[in-house]
Amino acid sequence: MIVTVLGTGTMGAPMARNICGRAFGDVRVWNRTTEKAESLADCGCTVAESVADAVKGAGAVLVMLADDAAVLSVLEEALPAMEDGAILVQASTVGVKTTEQIAARAAEHDIPFLDAPVVGTKQPAEKGNLVVLASGPDDAIDACGAIFDAIALKTVRAGEAGAGTRLKLTVNTWILGLVESLAETVALAQKLGVDPGLFFQTIGGGPLDTKYAHTKGALMTERSFEPASFSLALARKDAGLVLDAAAEADLALPIIEAVAKQMGTAIDAGHGDEDMAATYLASCPEP
Ligand code: NAP
Repeated sequence: MIVTVLGTGTMGAPMARNICGRAFGDVRVWNRTTEKAESLADCGCTVAESVADAVKGAGAVLVMLADDAAVLSVLEEALPAMEDGAILVQASTVGVKTTEQIAARAAEHDIPFLDAPVVGTKQPAEKGNLVVLASGPDDAIDACGAIFDAIALKTVRAGEAGAGTRLKLTVNTWILGLVESLAETVALAQKLGVDPGLFFQTIGGGPLDTKYAHTKGALMTERSFEPASFSLALARKDAGLVLDAAAEADLALPIIEAVAKQMGTAIDAGHGDEDMAATYLASCPEP
């Protein structure tokens, strides 16, 4: 089967590399900035110049782009060029309404649609250790099983298309709160003259511990946020998606509102391309 990956950023590039490594007939990649996809030629991927060239003849088209607007605009080129039987796998993190729009557009073109966002960041993507939140028709999920096995440790079947995105926004609500809470924990420790290392030692190995706290906490204590595993700008985008979904459900999320505000402050200070842990700089702009 020919597999196409649209978008070779932080996540899309290693995902394409892992799919290619699993001996699919042909893996095609397309990226808006073509040069960023060219390193994937080394592992055997074919770099396409246009979206239409990339999806022609593909059995599955996996989309991994920044945000709702990028996904919608690229799909306007991809959907008419996809061939009968091709499956659309939308893995970017987008909103609930956008996912409904994509489902409707795919149905107009008679294309099976999997709403399949992923959990995990740059390093899990490189190791093929993501978690796929697959939603959509079971036969389409089965047909993409080998693709998901190439990029992920496990595939969670969430239900009908749309359920994957709702689950992803739920998971990200927890992640966003965790990172912001960690930022304030490290900031408070430093202001109180407490070595943050003692905090990590205190939670280490117990029920309060999480590996994520150590990974992101190290970036905060070192004030070193590049290269980004997950950019602050995209994390702020996700906070907005969560708030939109909550508002539709008539639910207030004051913690996520505060997270969005803090992230916005750090982005305004010029840290949008840095790792999401740079939200810490909203609390502690100066060492
Ligand atoms: P990234 O490194 O910033 O890559 C973004 C990709 O989107 C690039 O290929 C970029 O192309 C493309 N793009 C942006 N605007 C575009 C437009 N208007 N038209 C066409 N292409 C456009 O982002 P990422 O970290 O790989 O994340 C990709 C998606 O996965 C996002 O939805 C993100 O929220 C989600 N996600 C990320 C992580 C993570 O930890 N990084 C984890 C799970 C999910 P150029 O190269 O030309 O700019």
